[in-house]
Amino acid sequence: MAIVLTGTYVSVNSGATYPLNEPRWCGDDGDLLDVDFNAAFDKEIIASRPANLWRYREALPVANDAEIITLGEGMTPLLNLDLSGHRIRMKVDYLFPSGSYKDRGSTVLISYLKSLGISKVVQDSSGNAAASIAQYCARADIDCEIFVPETASSAKVRQIAACGASITKVAGSREATAEAALDVAEDSFYASHVWHPLFFQGTKTFAYEVCEQMGWQAPDTIILPVSNGALMLGVYVGLNDLMKAGVIDKLPKLIAVQTESCAPVYNAFQEGKADVESVEPQVTIAEGIAANAPRRGKQLLECVRETGGTCIVVSESEIKTALVEMCQMGFFIEPTAAVAVAGAKKYIRNHATDDEKIVSTLTGSGLKAAEQIAGIVAR
Ligand SMILES: *Cc1c(COP(=O)(O)O)cnc(C)c1O
Repeated sequence: MAIVLTGTYVSVNSGATYPLNEPRWCGDDGDLLDVDFNAAFDKEIIASRPANLWRYREALPVANDAEIITLGEGMTPLLNLDLSGHRIRMKVDYLFPSGSYKDRGSTVLISYLKSLGISKVVQDSSGNAAASIAQYCARADIDCEIFVPETASSAKVRQIAACGASITKVAGSREATAEAALDVAEDSFYASHVWHPLFFQGTKTFAYEVCEQMGWQAPDTIILPVSNGALMLGVYVGLNDLMKAGVIDKLPKLIAVQTESCAPVYNAFQEGKADVESVEPQVTIAEGIAANAPRRGKQLLECVRETGGTCIVVSESEIKTALVEMCQMGFFIEPTAAVAVAGAKKYIRNHATDDEKIVSTLTGSGLKAAEQIAGIVAR
């Protein structure tokens, strides 16, 4: 069945709309965009397809099958895990081709850009999003220029370089890296996982997979690490797609976890503010979750509040403890991924009811930070 790109881009602030079949990453006024697209689900057809995220074909805004750029990503395991005396379900998203959940967004965004004839992109990230975009650009034969902070792990930088992307390191905060990428985006195409709403059209498949794996039911609570919100905002889009299609009948509570070293969303939530304020960047072992001024902060606060969720903050030592515990249980994750685990433990202790169905996720692979992990485990 051919997918017709009848969706539109919708400006977050002005509500202006633009057709989905014209390449753009922001509104005419420089505004953030969302996507309005009608996702359809046929449970039988979905079940008959291979175990990857393109099984939700009619819910993904890429027109033709021939345009799909894939590395076989998605349908990651949802494993039972006992944490702080509560059985939760853990989505094992470090098992993606590039070693992080970002491939959900990259496969959809790069497929879409390739289908529109884009031949060159620029992207910035703390490492994982860039590594993922670089891999999918290599697969799609698209030129890729990447900006990373000086602090990005060497394994991630090597991964990006190996896929043939050009790399520029930027001093200062995560925001400084984004600004450097924006400067060159004028003669290229900005394939940002923060700005481009097609990225969220990919990360939304997290929600589809979790609900399918739970027998097409939504959990009560989903606990996610939050930096720029590429995962949480996607999950929110996906849950709303499922609601709109009548597949699920309630929205789970969304719980955002941040590190004390960088907690702009948590701070704004605590203070009852409508938008986030940037925080002073500090050194953290959770380098992948250090967005000090998340561009979509307002939307993140809205989705936490609307679902009756909350924000949780964890300390550097709680992250290290969670990391060591996960390694000892056989999950070799990167330190950033331990933020959600530490947050889930805190949520279970302070908020969870006995029969609450909780889902969390392991977002990135330990292979990206093996030396750093060895140091933490040794102490
Ligand atoms: C990107 C990332 C996150 C969270 O970032 P969001 O933009 O908020 O989704 C968490 N963990 C890892 C390993 C990541 O790469």
